[in-house]
Amino acid sequence: MNSSDRQKRKDEYKATYTKKIEEVSGNCLADASLLKQYQALAEMIMEDVSSQWAKTNTLYNKNESKQVYFFSIEFLIGRLMKSYLVNLGIEDIVRECSEEMGLDYEAILAQESDPGLGNGGLGRLMACYLDSSSAMGMPAHGNGIRYKYGLFEQRIINGEQIEVADNWLKNGYPFEIRNPDKSVIVKYYGQIHAQNINGNLTFVHENYEPIMAIPYDIPIKGYHNETVNSLRLWSAEPLEAFDLPTFNQGHFLNAVRHKSEAEAISQILYPNDNGFDGKLLRLKQEYFFVCAGLKRIITDFKRSNENSMDGFSDKICIHINDTHPALCGPELMRVLMDEEGLGWDDAWKITVAALSFTNHTVLPEALEKWPVDMMNDLLPRIYMIIEEINRRFLLELNTKYPNDTPRNQSLSIIRDNYVHMASLSIVSSHSINGVAALHSKILREETFNGYYQVYPERFHSVTNGVSPRRFLMSSNPELKDLIDESIGTTWHHNLFDLKELLKYINDPVFYDQFNAVKLSNKLRLANYMANHNSVTVDPNSIFDIQVKRIHEYKRQLLNALHVLYLYNRLKENPNLEMAPRTFIFAGKAAPGYYYAKEVIKLITAIAELVNNDVSLHDKLKVVFLANFNVSLAEIIYPAANISEQISTAGKEASGTGNMKFMMNGAITLGTMDGANIEILEAVGPSNIVTFGLSADEVYNYQQHGGYRSVDIFEQDPRIQQILHQLVDGTLGLGISFQSIYDSLLLYNDGYFVLKDFNAYTDAQNRVDQLFRNQTVWTKMSISNVANSGIFSSDRSIKDYQQEIWKII
Ligand SMILES: *Cc1c(COP(=O)(O)O)cnc(C)c1O
Repeated sequence: MNSSDRQKRKDEYKATYTKKIEEVSGNCLADASLLKQYQALAEMIMEDVSSQWAKTNTLYNKNESKQVYFFSIEFLIGRLMKSYLVNLGIEDIVRECSEEMGLDYEAILAQESDPGLGNGGLGRLMACYLDSSSAMGMPAHGNGIRYKYGLFEQRIINGEQIEVADNWLKNGYPFEIRNPDKSVIVKYYGQIHAQNINGNLTFVHENYEPIMAIPYDIPIKGYHNETVNSLRLWSAEPLEAFDLPTFNQGHFLNAVRHKSEAEAISQILYPNDNGFDGKLLRLKQEYFFVCAGLKRIITDFKRSNENSMDGFSDKICIHINDTHPALCGPELMRVLMDEEGLGWDDAWKITVAALSFTNHTVLPEALEKWPVDMMNDLLPRIYMIIEEINRRFLLELNTKYPNDTPRNQSLSIIRDNYVHMASLSIVSSHSINGVAALHSKILREETFNGYYQVYPERFHSVTNGVSPRRFLMSSNPELKDLIDESIGTTWHHNLFDLKELLKYINDPVFYDQFNAVKLSNKLRLANYMANHNSVTVDPNSIFDIQVKRIHEYKRQLLNALHVLYLYNRLKENPNLEMAPRTFIFAGKAAPGYYYAKEVIKLITAIAELVNNDVSLHDKLKVVFLANFNVSLAEIIYPAANISEQISTAGKEASGTGNMKFMMNGAITLGTMDGANIEILEAVGPSNIVTFGLSADEVYNYQQHGGYRSVDIFEQDPRIQQILHQLVDGTLGLGISFQSIYDSLLLYNDGYFVLKDFNAYTDAQNRVDQLFRNQTVWTKMSISNVANSGIFSSDRSIKDYQQEIWKII
């Protein structure tokens, strides 16, 4: 664009925006509130996006290309306004115009609430995959639930987590379109009767409770292209707001109760990350978005396919994101048989060919299983179909392995009176994959080994990825500009091109520019911490960061214990030579997860101790940032020097935080777990710091014993000191972390914190040495950015296209 064209664009923008402000607020620009400034901009964006959206949909409705639908109970999309502006290619213009009109651009963007429609990595992965699919012009959509309340807002009060409801819709949400004309009725409870209709055995569902599912669609705009895919989120409403007969008989309260029971289905997101809690309402949610989503897909498919289901699985991929949408299998069977009149074998062929499944965890406490009675009561027809799927599967097993009944029984989808959702997903999908190489191997060799022996060809691996547009270009604009100036912009479309940065690996001028960007990002975060935590930190200290859900397997405890140990060393020797450190933590604990909440309390207690001790001369600071969410994440990742990825080996399926840190130049300090292993491969052993037990070693201890945490305790005076400090009042008068102490000693340290402690402190010493040589450190940091191309979610989506959905 030449400068006069650009000026013209800007003048047009200002005129349209001024008009829009008047429309949405009834005020002129000077009197419009920030909220109205935001709403006006949002409306302009939707106008821009919607014509491309309509065009994309018209194209898709012809059924020419294969469509992918991600079924997921979470989509952690983050704020969208800036993404739309960047993807439309008008961000510069809007920012400049806003400033020229005397508006505060950043404050306008901050008006958007952060849709907390996910717990953590699983939901965020879906958001990155939608972003990448659109960026690559590939037809892929999301299907989930429009929770009225997202994940709770976390406040830290007196060092403890307090949960506050997250009413993210309170000012409306400008990027969704409500489509009541596309509603679907979802049926719960009732009885099933087999009837003979025209000589065919037909199943009729009676006395059910109907709930209305209303879709809200959000456009997912591609980066600098014309593709706009859709994220469809379903909201539950009563069929009739007031059930008139009930009302007339004076049962007003019953009518109101029906309304609130219906709405309850999409009221809240369950706040468990990697944890299963078998609540009936959750099962209702799972069926809700599966049933509604499939119904719309099938209706739309048939409309452009001469009302026939022929070729459905050639044109439609239903991708099951973890087991929460596992009912896709039996529900698709139900529709194909009961509504479309297909026989079992034909319906089953279509179902298996259409479905693919990604597993996200091997933690036993996360694997879903529903009591048979609950499933049968709530979803009687679905349960019948699951029984039949299982009966046929066991028949197949007994034919293949006639003399192996106990083993075959152990693979049964229904066992111990539960429906096992991972088993159901594997049996009804043509593909199952893990999310990193190690994780996929563990699935094949341990978790799902029995199924792997039956269906080896179904098992795949696709390593996760993250959106470079959100987690580099948009959240780290200074680094983006520096990279653009240095190697051009082809990396915007192919992240592997970041490798070209390696030509500056010994260039002192580039070092200075690169370090200046890092410092600027650290200052931005330091500023945030000063405002929110009233802690001042040294921006030249090592920013050593662990941000993710608080969970025992992620071992924030190991990090916290090491901080306490460092504190003890500094108290013993105030002249200890070390680079100053700022340890930064953030993450939410599930509200019912007592232990994780104790870990938050421990971190804040250590922060209190350390930050107020003047004898440390500011060598050590500890900060716990409240309410980790996507918006906060975007400030944190670019500011890191160290990325803490210290899960017990074998427990973290992939991790994606590790990739976001790497892309922004942080050095991974990690165990050989999840995608850390692939980070090591990408960046080479001299540009990462690894430590600790391997997944095999952990597995062996767990299977065969041989680890006693008390032995370690008895041999290591450092550990004795810190564990005593947990319970002796060091961390506050009357404050004792007895449950943590007991978990480590009495209950033998299930996550190998003490076992890995020595290796971890050694690794932390290496970090200190490396950082103190700024040339070495900068080189490592640049290498990390340069080699992060493989962790673009664009690459992940390409892998899925080729390996799993078979889209060429
Ligand atoms: C990336 C991300 C996560 C996942 O982090 P891990 O370190 O992989 O557990 C969780 N929450 C948010 C907000 C994220 O952006």
